[in-house]
Amino acid sequence: MSDPLSMRQPDSGTAPGTSTRAIIDLEAMRANLGEVRRYAGGVPVMAVVKADAYGHGVEHAVRVFQEEGVTMFGVATVPEGARLRALGVETPVLVFGQPLVEYLPLYEKYGLDLTVAGEEIAEAVLRDGRPVRVHIKVETGMHRLGLAISEAPAVVARLMAAPHVEVAALWTHFAASDAADLRYARQQIERFDEVVRAIGAGVPTHLANSGALVQLPAAVEGRALVRPGGLLYGLASSDPLERQVRVRPVMRLVSRVVHIHHVASGESVSYGCTWRASRPSRVATVAAGYADGLPRQWSNRGHVSIRGRRYPIVGRVCMDMLMVDLGTPAGTGQAVATGDEVVFFGGSDLSAAQAAEWADTMAYALPAGLTNRVPRIAAT
Ligand SMILES: *Cc1c(COP(=O)(O)O)cnc(C)c1O
Repeated sequence: MSDPLSMRQPDSGTAPGTSTRAIIDLEAMRANLGEVRRYAGGVPVMAVVKADAYGHGVEHAVRVFQEEGVTMFGVATVPEGARLRALGVETPVLVFGQPLVEYLPLYEKYGLDLTVAGEEIAEAVLRDGRPVRVHIKVETGMHRLGLAISEAPAVVARLMAAPHVEVAALWTHFAASDAADLRYARQQIERFDEVVRAIGAGVPTHLANSGALVQLPAAVEGRALVRPGGLLYGLASSDPLERQVRVRPVMRLVSRVVHIHHVASGESVSYGCTWRASRPSRVATVAAGYADGLPRQWSNRGHVSIRGRRYPIVGRVCMDMLMVDLGTPAGTGQAVATGDEVVFFGGSDLSAAQAAEWADTMAYALPAGLTNRVPRIAAT
């Protein structure tokens, strides 16, 4: 069944002829939620499922988290919230992004919680008159969205006094909660709590993303909820976090070898002739490229795993294919055959963090960057 709000065909198995697949380990996702809850103590978890659950397939994520009793979800945009409603989610959904004024009716239509992160939208909500539940965002150091500390108390008071507005919480977002040095994050907590105290009325608060959940108890204890995303998918946003947490990778991204050929010494591979064989080489062509969301930065830098061994990506990553060097014709790569599975990340032999490093990016960006061509398939 396709649904009109889906940006991608829901999981219905793999279309015949599909080589590239993201295999989603639902049990790992379940275990990661358990680990997140351990860090959260008794504080409820809002599962962040924005960006198609960081590329893992929001239908999988919602199923697992609902089975495990999660009753709050966080998304980035109104269409992502509408998609959750189409999937049958009836519990609160907070849209993190600042709405444009003309989007306000959609919050009522889909029953979404609204972020108020500026005076202009606050005024629009007050004028609008439609019943709405709001989470008021305060700027404490990220400098992306939020009411200035000086203007927040007055705006909160006016919203709280409006009969059509339910103020659900006050919140903020960290710029560096996953760092080794937590001074900036602690300063954000101080600024935030100062505003909370100024308002006085015991408004619920929330601020912990994955980094804060692990590293900053003051962002967790006594708060209304925590808002982790990455950890649920087995992803850490920084090295310090990667070292501390015990979460399991959820996505295994694979494709297949579709062609094997010999390249003579001195011959080049792929567009721009950026790689030349320094010896007779056996080269495998793999059916995945940047149109699947693979980083083009892997050109001549990334590696893949085939039959448990690593091989370098050689030449430029193309739109639909890439090539890997299997070594000399008589070398260890000779066992590799057409049809073999090629692992890009996930599983035990190649982490998303490692694969991200080869592309000068972070682990979240790899699954989140996969395109609609890649089916997300629940592991069986
Ligand atoms: C994405 C996001 C989160 C989750 O961040 P993680 O690092 O994935 O835990 C929490 N809050 C807001 C506002 C976000 O945009």
